[in-house]
Amino acid sequence: MTADTMTADTMTSPTPDPAVAGPDARRRSVAVDVGGVTVGGDAPIVVQSMTNTDTADIEATVAQVAALAEAGSEIVRITVDRPEAARAVPHIRDRLRAAGVAAPLVGDFHYIGHTLLAEHPACAEALAKYRINPGNVGFGEKKDRQFAAMIETALTYDKPVRIGVNWGSLDQALLTSLMDRNAQSPTPVSAAAVLREAIVQSALLSAERAEELGLGRDRIILSAKVSKVQDLVAVYRDLAQRSDHALHLGLTEAGMGAKGIVASSAALALLLQQGIGDTIRISLTPEPGGDRTLEVRVAQDLLQTMGFRDFAPDVAACPGCGRTTSTLFQELAQRIRQDLDAAMPDWRARYPGVEAMKVAVMGCIVNGPGESKHADIGISLPGTGESPAAPVFIDGKKAATLRGATIAEDFRAMVHAYVERRFGQPGSGD
Ligand code: SF4
Repeated sequence: MTADTMTADTMTSPTPDPAVAGPDARRRSVAVDVGGVTVGGDAPIVVQSMTNTDTADIEATVAQVAALAEAGSEIVRITVDRPEAARAVPHIRDRLRAAGVAAPLVGDFHYIGHTLLAEHPACAEALAKYRINPGNVGFGEKKDRQFAAMIETALTYDKPVRIGVNWGSLDQALLTSLMDRNAQSPTPVSAAAVLREAIVQSALLSAERAEELGLGRDRIILSAKVSKVQDLVAVYRDLAQRSDHALHLGLTEAGMGAKGIVASSAALALLLQQGIGDTIRISLTPEPGGDRTLEVRVAQDLLQTMGFRDFAPDVAACPGCGRTTSTLFQELAQRIRQDLDAAMPDWRARYPGVEAMKVAVMGCIVNGPGESKHADIGISLPGTGESPAAPVFIDGKKAATLRGATIAEDFRAMVHAYVERRFGQPGSGD
């Protein structure tokens, strides 16, 4: 479709489909290899992230990419905004590989990407994918030429691209054209619907152009980021219906703290549940001095909570209430979580399947035993007025009753023993 063939119907959001797909019914997309990580097709939904260091600062960027990868980011994007950054890219890649960090690097280009890629072939070669924003690849007659130059570089180095539209830098010529046509239409739609259509068309027309230039569909990922949840859902549902390209999901400018996490999770969950999305990034504004890896953990938690993937054992804990006698259960839940997080880098290799383990830490016997029975291993601590005993259930059966001042330590030891017994490989008892 082109701007000329757009009608009022195509600008209307698709009718909500009452059928929800969930983890078992993903939309079919063309798989794209990004430096050894498959995005789309039958591959699991990939978690990715982006650094906020100056890419020209090699030390800082290497450290942050390594931290993001260690946290579980399977692809990491870095800004390539000027020659100093482009020159740093191959050194960053080499240092990461020397340190055993395999996460592919994606270059984020704006305005002068065509020049940077042409003048820094080592950068073009070191990156596993190029992100191209069609809204700021150039203006007027330069736009097509500069977009084509980036695609030709991708062809030369056999790299995939992400055509990443962002509503904040949308192709104004396309938007104006659609607004004009809408104004002349006998059945005009809202300005918001025209904006959404412009976002979708910008992505689809750019992908079409890349294909005309020779880039295969298995080399193109699309994204179309907006900052409002309902707009994001409408835009991606449209993209999903009108193409089979692999889709990168993310809500842009989601915000800080709980607000950013809630907004991103709400938007992405709605799409993932409908089978839409092949890779996700949670764009959080970090607190000053905050931990950048939080966006990776939120992405993993979202996918795991929804049943798409398992990354780390789950610790279910009750919220506590007036029946809770102390903060013991909160402390125990937190310590178990910390134990598991600390152990996972080692356990992931030694105990295959441990990431799907469920641990329950409950505050009393009202719901505690029931929840514990549904976990792999669970404990119900004594609530107000209850006998000072803590039943432990393993694989649905009561395995022990812990008492005294060492309940927490005893339970932690039982969790570790359970992991060894359940997930340990024969002959790996070191
Ligand atoms: S399990 Fe017990 S302590 Fe926890 S919220 Fe339920 S009733 Fe309250």
